[in-house]
Amino acid sequence: MRTPIQDEFTYLPISRQRKYQLRKKRDKRCTECGAPAIRGVRCLKHLVMARELQRKKRGLKRRYKTLSYRLQRQA
Ligand SMILES: [Zn+2]
Repeated sequence: MRTPIQDEFTYLPISRQRKYQLRKKRDKRCTECGAPAIRGVRCLKHLVMARELQRKKRGLKRRYKTLSYRLQRQA
């Protein structure tokens, strides 16, 4: 068996998933897939995914000049 990770999050009363996210955030990595984060805690792929999810939820039709679009075009 592997030794569990020992760090500042180990004994916090939060779920394992939340700890995973906090560690990723600390390491400036995407909380979803562990790729280098571009903005906040998400890589470009998940930045776009999160954006599209939000649009669906709110039923938005317009495309605003948001950061993720510019980054998408650059990539
Ligand atoms: Zn990702």
